[in-house]
Amino acid sequence: IDLSNAKLEKIAVKKDDYPPIKMPEMCICGRSNVGKSSFINTIFKDKLAKVGSTPGKTRTINFFNIDNKFRVVDLPGYGYAEVSKEEKKRWKNMIEEYLLEREELKLAVLLLDSRHLPTEDDKIMLGFFDRKEIPIMIVLTKCDKLSNNELTKNTNLISKELGIDKELFYQFSAKTGMGAKQIQYSIVKFMEE
Ligand code: GDP
Repeated sequence: IDLSNAKLEKIAVKKDDYPPIKMPEMCICGRSNVGKSSFINTIFKDKLAKVGSTPGKTRTINFFNIDNKFRVVDLPGYGYAEVSKEEKKRWKNMIEEYLLEREELKLAVLLLDSRHLPTEDDKIMLGFFDRKEIPIMIVLTKCDKLSNNELTKNTNLISKELGIDKELFYQFSAKTGMGAKQIQYSIVKFMEE
């Protein structure tokens, strides 16, 4: 699989818009501004996703086709404070609609900011995957912003808070490329099976 052979296939707001032809999918989710677009551009192809657009602006589900082998599904970033209740509900429904019924979903990547403890929303996402028995990869983003000591400390704290073995965490930085190779390797290995 050539991960860099990637293109935007479809932008969706509801189920009817999803690409009709079946292919295995992995979804990528996380809080607004966690570094999701930067992650996608580093792991797959530069400029595939739009970086640093106004936080809370992305209200769509973007389907990327990877080498005609699988799809990356970029779910809207959640948890942005500066939006109305109705707007938040729309996002929640959009994410739920995808997660609850998409049979093609084989792997979920949850991005967490390495500097912060996971939020309630992050835990809700993990709860979804747990109930549906979808394998997860947890990626700690922006690791370049921490010293080695701080990173070790935060990784332990986050792992403890979630009750998930820290060996399942990937430490990542879009700025330095830290962790990118391991993540690419794991994705290829997983999606090839
Ligand atoms: P998204 O909203 O989750 O898609 O996040 P973006 O990828 O757009 O990034 C949000 C902000 O964080 C931007 O200003 C990025 O430049 C910055 N950022 C993203 N990843 C990293 C990283 O690994 N290191 C640093 N230092 N900044 C990052």
